[in-house]
Amino acid sequence: NFHHLFSPLTVNGLELKNRILMPAFHMKYADHGYATDRLKEFYYERAKGGAAMILVGGMRIDDLGGDIGLDSLSDDTFIEGYQELVEGIHERGAKAGAQLYHAGRYMRSGSMPDHLPGLSASSTFSGFSRETSREMSAEDIRLTQQKWAEAAVRAKKAGFDAVEIIACTGYLICQFLSEITNKRTDEYGGSLENRCRFGQEVVQAVRRAVGPDFPIFMRITGNDFMPGGAGFAETVAFAKAMEEAGVDLLNVTGGWHETQIPQITGDVPPATYTYLAHQIKQAVQIPVSASNRINDPYVAEEVLALGKSDMVSMARALLADPQWPSKVKEGRLGEIRKCMGCNQGCLANSFFDKPGECLVNGKAGREYLFRDKTAPETSKRILVAGGGPGGAEAAVNLAQRGHQVTLWEKNGRIGGQLPLVAAPSSKKDFMELIGYYENMLAESGVEVICNKEADAAEVAAGGFDVVITATGVIPKTMPLPNDDGSVPIYTAHQILAKEVIPGKNVVIIGGGTVGCETAHVLAEAGTLTPEQYHFLCIHHAENRDFLDSLMNHSLRNISIVEILPKIGKGFDPGTAWPLLQGLDRMGVKKYANTKVLSVKDKVVTVERTAKDGTVSVVEIPCDMIILAVGAVPNDKLYHALEGKVPELYNLGDSSGIGKVLTAVRDAVDLAYSI
Ligand code: SF4
Repeated sequence: NFHHLFSPLTVNGLELKNRILMPAFHMKYADHGYATDRLKEFYYERAKGGAAMILVGGMRIDDLGGDIGLDSLSDDTFIEGYQELVEGIHERGAKAGAQLYHAGRYMRSGSMPDHLPGLSASSTFSGFSRETSREMSAEDIRLTQQKWAEAAVRAKKAGFDAVEIIACTGYLICQFLSEITNKRTDEYGGSLENRCRFGQEVVQAVRRAVGPDFPIFMRITGNDFMPGGAGFAETVAFAKAMEEAGVDLLNVTGGWHETQIPQITGDVPPATYTYLAHQIKQAVQIPVSASNRINDPYVAEEVLALGKSDMVSMARALLADPQWPSKVKEGRLGEIRKCMGCNQGCLANSFFDKPGECLVNGKAGREYLFRDKTAPETSKRILVAGGGPGGAEAAVNLAQRGHQVTLWEKNGRIGGQLPLVAAPSSKKDFMELIGYYENMLAESGVEVICNKEADAAEVAAGGFDVVITATGVIPKTMPLPNDDGSVPIYTAHQILAKEVIPGKNVVIIGGGTVGCETAHVLAEAGTLTPEQYHFLCIHHAENRDFLDSLMNHSLRNISIVEILPKIGKGFDPGTAWPLLQGLDRMGVKKYANTKVLSVKDKVVTVERTAKDGTVSVVEIPCDMIILAVGAVPNDKLYHALEGKVPELYNLGDSSGIGKVLTAVRDAVDLAYSI
C-alpha cells in the first residue's frame, strides 16, 4: 500500500527517502530572521514525522524582498542558527532546503527601508498590497540576482541540501513573467522570452554560486488565473526555460494572491490543482511536485500513481499532523488529523502578522512549549462533560498522559457543534474531525458514554478527582417588533441541524459568520455543486463575464438583515471572500445598517440607512425568519458544580464563546496542566 508515496527519488544527487515534500510556509516563528527554538522544534517535529524533505522559509535574501518576520539568509550572521536547525532536521531523518524569497510588489512600504514602495518589473498597482510598485532599474535587477546567489551560498554553508527559488503566487519572478505587471520595453519585457529572462538569470546566478551538484528547486505557478496574465501556454514555456537554466525540480502551485478563484479554501475539491503539475511534468524532464489541498493519503498516492507528479507537496497537511507520513506508512490512517482547509490558524494569522497556528493541532507552532513536559505524578479519575472538539481534545490528551478519563456526551455521537460548523460546503471536511476524535478516544482508552447528559448531583457523587465541563452554547433568541406571528421563527442552529427545511422566501436576522454561512447553505441548495462551479472557474478563469453569467442563482429568495454597518463581521481574514462572493453570485440580498420594523401578513418590513444617511423602508415577502443573533455560554453545569468537586475546569464555548481553534488549543494546555 502507498508504495508510490514511499518510493525513493533522487534529485541532482540528493536522495529523498519518499515522495513527501513539505513546502515552505511563512510561519513567522523567527526572531528578526534568526532561527528560534520555536522554529527549530516546529521543523524537528515534521522531520521526525517522516517527510522526505522540508523546505524552510520563505527566507529573506535582502531587506527589500521580505518582511522582517520571515526567516532570513540576508547576511552571514544568520548562518549559524540555521546550521543548527538543518543538523536537527538531518538527525531526525529528513533533508532540508531553503526557500529563497522575494515578494516584489507584494512588499508594503511600511515594511520597506525608507518606506519606499515595493520593487517590481514595472510600476503597477497591486490589489494585494494596495500600493503602486517601483520599477526596477537595470542595477536593481543585477543586485537582486546577486542577493539571490549570495543567499544560496549561505544556505549551502548552513548545510541545507538544496535551495528553492520562489517564482509563484505573484511574487517578483511572476511579476516579470506576467504582462499584467511587466510593461518594460528593455530586454526584460515584451516577448515571452524577455519576460522569462529575469527568472532565468536568477537561476543562472544561483547555479554559478552553488556549483553544478547542488540541487536547485523552483516553486512556480502552473496558471496564475489572472485575466490577461500568464496562463497555461506561458507557464509551460516558463517551466521549460527554468529547466534549461538549471532548475532540478519544479514545485507547482496555483495562482497569485490577487487571483479571484479559490485555491486553498475548503470548497476547493481535493487535489484539484494537480493538473497544473501534470501539464508541466509532460513538458519537462526534471521531477515535478504537485500542490494544493492534498491531505488524504489515498488522494496523494493516486496523484503519484497516475504520474501527475513525482512528489506531493503538503504544507498545511503537515502543520495539522506532523506525523502524517509515518501514520500512513504504518497503516494508522484513522489517527491522521487532517487539515480542514479552514485557513483559520495558518493563513488568517499571517494577515495579522501573527505566528502560524492550526485549528486542529493545538501544539502547532508551540511544540517547544511541550518538549520538556513530563508525565503527571499521579493518575487521576477525570470526567469530561461534553464531546465537542474542546472536550474530545482534552480527553484524548489527558488519557495519553496517563489519566483515567470518562467522557459523557448528551447526544448520540460526539462532535458538539461540529455538524453545524460543517454544514456549509466549504467546511464539510469538519465532519472528518468527528471521526478522528472517535478513533483517538478509543485508541487512547477514554471511556465514552453517549446519550448521557451530565447531572450535577450525579457528577458530584461520582468520585471524580477532576471534572471538566465543555458543554457548549445556547443559541440566542429575541422577540421581533410588531410581530403578528404570521411567519415561523427558527434559530440558525435549528436550520443547520436540518430540524426544518425552509421554503423559498427566507429572511435571516443577523449578518455575522453564522448568518452568512446559513444563507450560503440555503442559497446553494439546488444550484451547481461546489465541484461543478469550481471546474467552471478553472476553465474559464480568464472570462469573468462568463463566470458572472453562470446559471447559478439561488432558487430561494434570501435576505440577510444586519443592524451593524457591515455584513460578514467575525470571519477570519482571507477566509470570508469565497463565501461572500458566493452569496453575491447566488443573489442573496444583503441589508446592512438595517432594523426590523414589523412582521405582518408574511412580510418583513425593514428600515435601512444608506451610507449617505438616506433612510428607506423595504418590504420583504417571507415565509420563514431565521435568527442568527449569537449564542451564550451554556455554563449551568459548571456553576452547579462549583465547590462540589475537588478540581473543576470550564472549557471551550461554555467558558466564553470562541472558535474551534481556541477550544482545541485551550484543551491541550489544560490537559498538560493536570
Ligand atoms: Fe489546515 Fe485549518 Fe490547520 Fe490551516 S488552520 S493547517 S487550514 S486545519
